[in-house]
Amino acid sequence: MTVPHCALCKSRDRDVVQTQSLALLNREEVCKIDFSVCRACGHLQQWPPVSPALMAYHYKTFATYEEFGDAERLRTAPPARHAQRFLTLLADIGLPLGRAYEVGCASGAMLHQFRKQGWQVRGCDPSPSAVSQAASVFGIDVDLGDEENAIPRQKNLDLILACHVLEHLYDPPATLARFHAALAPHGHLVLEVPCATAPESLPPGWFTFEHLHYYQPAVLERLLRDAGFEPIETRIEMTAEHYPVMAIAARKMPRRTEDVTGLEPSAGTILARRYAARDHTLWTATARRVAHFQEPVFLYGAGIHTAQLLDRTGLAPHILAIADRDPKKWGQTQAGKPVISPAELFADPRQVPVIISSYVSERQIVEALLAGGVARQRIVPLYSDMPDRAKSVRASAG
Ligand SMILES: [Zn+2]
Repeated sequence: MTVPHCALCKSRDRDVVQTQSLALLNREEVCKIDFSVCRACGHLQQWPPVSPALMAYHYKTFATYEEFGDAERLRTAPPARHAQRFLTLLADIGLPLGRAYEVGCASGAMLHQFRKQGWQVRGCDPSPSAVSQAASVFGIDVDLGDEENAIPRQKNLDLILACHVLEHLYDPPATLARFHAALAPHGHLVLEVPCATAPESLPPGWFTFEHLHYYQPAVLERLLRDAGFEPIETRIEMTAEHYPVMAIAARKMPRRTEDVTGLEPSAGTILARRYAARDHTLWTATARRVAHFQEPVFLYGAGIHTAQLLDRTGLAPHILAIADRDPKKWGQTQAGKPVISPAELFADPRQVPVIISSYVSERQIVEALLAGGVARQRIVPLYSDMPDRAKSVRASAG
């Protein structure tokens, strides 16, 4: 299903702002992706998006969404920061308790917090391991599957939650129509997505394989209105995560409201071009930084960041192996290089540099390498001296 038109407004008129060639796990050939702005509505998106089959393959081989830690610690942990943002937003708009359903709820950690507040909770997630973890750790019923299958079986919900879901979906208007149908009259939708704003604050590699959509506030509010929702509160947090995020609470309206506010498509083009220029500058600095490695090195981190690093630098021929903490990646290859466990890296007698291929988890990886006995002078972080990077730490993200 390669969509030749804008996922939001169906225009076929696009401006390509960046192209990436990414080496995925166990694939010899690279995957070429365009990131584009719609000239009609200004929405930033992968266009055309990668095929759903390739995306499904990626989630199976590459992505890590399970919780790590023992059950009792997970049950007694305070709300994660995104869950706290949702709870605070709901408390501030004064929503009465009722039936909440979370789309893409992973192992149910946020639903667990909602239930503690008195909500009746249920959710869906496509990952079998997450669904079984929700049952065994939290005792929460989670439907196995994506919203396309799960939401049409729901009705009269008081609240739908979607945290970092909408940027992954192929057809957001169709998804919002299903949400609308599953909600009770005057039911609410609360969602959070990465926010396309302030291009000078966005990290390298922000245009990424897993994200099909990059929502500007005006575009998302318009999308909600077109789907029959009235946005009642929009909150943008600039430094809560590694990039700006936007949460919106919206109320179901009896019918759609057409074309309430006009969009200025050039705003999307200006933002995307500014960011693409910044991204180019950041990767050029990284390429310069790694250019002096003309002998073998290890990488730490198999994933999309590594695919981007290999696309933007000349490092590939010098890589011996890529270490990663996720057991499901061990024994696979990326760009023809073996993916090994941290233990194999620590035991390797070759005292060569270890380049950390991660923006989000860089500091945790430095700690893990030191703890594993890797000498500090062998460790090469790429971003530690970047002046304007967000200070937050989020272990689960890639
Ligand atoms: Zn469009």
